[in-house]
Amino acid sequence: MKLTVLGRHGPFPAPGGACSGYLIQAGDTALVLELGPGALSNLRRIYPNINVDGILLSHLHSDHMGDMLVLRYALPQLKIKTPLTVVAPETPETEYRTLASSGVFEMVSAKAGRKLRFGEVTVTLHGSSHPVETYAFDIEYRGKRIFYTGDTGMHTDLVNQCRGADILLADACFLNAEKPGEKAQHLTAGEAGQVAKAAGVGQLICTHVWGGREDTEQMLAEAREHFANCLIAEEMHEYHV
Ligand SMILES: [Zn+2]
Repeated sequence: MKLTVLGRHGPFPAPGGACSGYLIQAGDTALVLELGPGALSNLRRIYPNINVDGILLSHLHSDHMGDMLVLRYALPQLKIKTPLTVVAPETPETEYRTLASSGVFEMVSAKAGRKLRFGEVTVTLHGSSHPVETYAFDIEYRGKRIFYTGDTGMHTDLVNQCRGADILLADACFLNAEKPGEKAQHLTAGEAGQVAKAAGVGQLICTHVWGGREDTEQMLAEAREHFANCLIAEEMHEYHV
């Protein structure tokens, strides 16, 4: 299974960067997780005709789904077979309705515990802790697992959800010193490292890099205090399991 980072920033991009977007390729199956601003452009470097099997949106904040709004135009104009399967939470209602009424997406409701099959790939959805309805995705292919946290603050189920994953792709938006309080809406890099350690994952990839951050060295150092096998997501880099 291969993970390619299409965009790593939030809640707005760094200069020249893209917001959240991740491509998963496994056998004949290609899935896109999130399609934030800039991610569609990077996806089209790999799939000019966007012939992927589905798009999974952890939640409907704009930095995770902004490019879905222009994908609505691309699909018919590129004469791509529609509808394209889109997994997304049904709230916030306004955003969901915009996608559902476009006529080019076949909407599948995200629900905690739901298992979805795409070819040989199984995706299990888990609840995350964020101000809007948000899900994490546990993606499994031939015994290998990539767990993507979506946007989340620390919560009691998180370690169990990702236990034993080969790759933990984790929201690490804040540094410890920047954490706005106990009810933070994102993990810190240090917390991502703690989760990776407690869950015994193979590798931690920290993402959701704040768009105003000038470098990621401190993020990496904080995460590595707890978990050595850690990287910061890099746009268009590939990670294999
Ligand atoms: Zn969010």
